[in-house]
Amino acid sequence: MSVVTELGYLGLGVRDLAAWKTFAANVLGLEVVPDDNPGRCRLRMDYWYQRFILTESGSDDLDFIGWRVANAQALDETQRRLRDAGIAYEVATDEQCEQRQVLGMIRLQDPAGVLTEVFYGPRVETGNPFYPGRRMHGSFLTGDRGLGHVVLEVPDPERSERFYTQILGMRGSIEYELNRPNGPSGLLYFMSCNPRQHSLAFGHVGSKKRLIHVMTELERIEDVGLARDIVKHQGVPIRIDIGQHHNDHTISFYPVTPSGWIWEYGWGVSPPSGQAEWAKAGIWGHEFVPPAG
Ligand code: FE
Repeated sequence: MSVVTELGYLGLGVRDLAAWKTFAANVLGLEVVPDDNPGRCRLRMDYWYQRFILTESGSDDLDFIGWRVANAQALDETQRRLRDAGIAYEVATDEQCEQRQVLGMIRLQDPAGVLTEVFYGPRVETGNPFYPGRRMHGSFLTGDRGLGHVVLEVPDPERSERFYTQILGMRGSIEYELNRPNGPSGLLYFMSCNPRQHSLAFGHVGSKKRLIHVMTELERIEDVGLARDIVKHQGVPIRIDIGQHHNDHTISFYPVTPSGWIWEYGWGVSPPSGQAEWAKAGIWGHEFVPPAG
């Protein structure tokens, strides 16, 4: 029984917020909502008040991850597990909950040092439907599957696996061995907490950034093709071209974000099988395109 129910939101530190707003709206089709603070904005993809919180900083990397639990009792259970494991955490202040627009939250560092927020009660705005940043055939697929998935570089994958399974209650194991002459290599672990095949993956694969990629899923495959056409038309670099993964069957491609890390734009994610299996390659495609120069 999973404690965490979904990947709720992500905080991203970006160097060029203006470039990010254009990329988020015109390439990804996300809704950009300006903030009173000019160095910040939020991105919507469904009825949630916010799914991505962008803050202008020099990091061009992950700021924090928000993992949702069902309610106050589930947050209490998470705190009990943390205390039993001797892992430090703090209960979020009213001001911190206000910033995230959640009813309750705790904050801690995961074993890789990622600022991890476990929360319940996100603000949703069912009277304010998602307004895509550009034309789309359908919408993003979220619902009980969360915003998508995030993939992280971690120093000690086995330690991270213990944390995400024993404390946050996810399920998963090694599913891929990456072997790329000019890209990341190593074993990748995949973790699930809902009907999405995985909400988190991590490995010690030699990425310079903590954040390897973020994945969002589309309802319709036409939107993956449309986004790829837009990327090609606008000259946005693609790091991994269209293809289909072995483990989650996703058909996707990966354009490069203004922060240098990549965004997986995909369709057709399968549910988790519930038992371990691994592969050395995908089903088709996903050709790695080395950076120019
Ligand atoms: Fe992915």
